[in-house]
Amino acid sequence: MYKNHLNPIHCIIPPYMLSKLIESGNKKVADMAVNSKFRSYRFLSDRNFFRAASFYEKTILGAVPKKPAKSTMQMEVYDCRQTTDLTNATLLWDTKNKQRFNSIAGKNVIKGGKASWDFYRDLFGRNSIDNNGLLIKQYVHYDKGMDNAYWDGRRMVYGDGDGVVFTSFTSDIDVIGHELTHGVTENEANLDYENQTGALNESFSDIFGIMIKQRYNNQDVKKSNWLIGEKVLIGINYALRSLKAPGTGYRNHPELGDDPQPAIMDNYQDMPNTESGDWGGVHINSGIPNFAFYVSAFNIGGYSWEKTGRIWYAVLTDSNLAHDAKFVDVKNMTIQHAERLFGINSLEVKAVKQGWLEAKV
Ligand SMILES: [Zn+2]
Repeated sequence: MYKNHLNPIHCIIPPYMLSKLIESGNKKVADMAVNSKFRSYRFLSDRNFFRAASFYEKTILGAVPKKPAKSTMQMEVYDCRQTTDLTNATLLWDTKNKQRFNSIAGKNVIKGGKASWDFYRDLFGRNSIDNNGLLIKQYVHYDKGMDNAYWDGRRMVYGDGDGVVFTSFTSDIDVIGHELTHGVTENEANLDYENQTGALNESFSDIFGIMIKQRYNNQDVKKSNWLIGEKVLIGINYALRSLKAPGTGYRNHPELGDDPQPAIMDNYQDMPNTESGDWGGVHINSGIPNFAFYVSAFNIGGYSWEKTGRIWYAVLTDSNLAHDAKFVDVKNMTIQHAERLFGINSLEVKAVKQGWLEAKV
């Protein structure tokens, strides 16, 4: 038996957030949160099937391209029409026919999916998530008001949100970029999803998610607000996470309380390696490597993806990045790659060292 959480479904809303909502006095919010938790178990069983499936089986089910595709984006967008039936979802749009349709969620995922695909291809020559032309399948309007978005190992699925705490999970490009980056990570280092390693897995997704949004909006390190999920979480003062100031994504939220992320190693949260413990705080301790990236990028300056992103991508795709890497391993590797790319005494190397120093790793 393998451990389920090492092969997780990657959802944007961590279990501790849903637990808070399940305890909500607002019955609608609580009901939706229970339903969202229930749905996550269904996706998990899909994931477990695909882990054990053969290459042939995966080909039949569209989880790998039938033949290596040329480097052009292939995407299909489906409307679940507020049901949980992915098989009978309606095709809204695909890259071959570019049909016209009305769904805002559908338009959002084309925008976010294309921004992510272009990011990886234009900057790093990557041909889709698996670097082998994977067809990106995105499903919108899944279930009634589901509070989550998932990458299940072969496709993206988005809920519309309960309308009280969360709105459509297609609303933020960084959330879409975050989820698709889980696919990239899975095809590269395949980092475990527990404790420090899981927090690195989450952090890579936040880092590339924010860079994808910054590039789409043409924002440099000073102009960006460094927030993940600023629209998905309803309320002008709320976002899911902040890379600039981890722990300030939301404060005094009526349903969610305070963002629990630490920014520095001194405040690392030793949590149980269980679902309710967020598998050792993978969505919590990711604040530490996120903060190291932010400080590095800010000190390097300009557009984050031009230099700092290159360093982090080199680490993510380095075959020496172990599936059970710790923060210090990524620290050392970012310094090594910065030295290789920009020179031992470069400003970039100093900035990366400063980033990890401020995060106290
Ligand atoms: Zn994630």
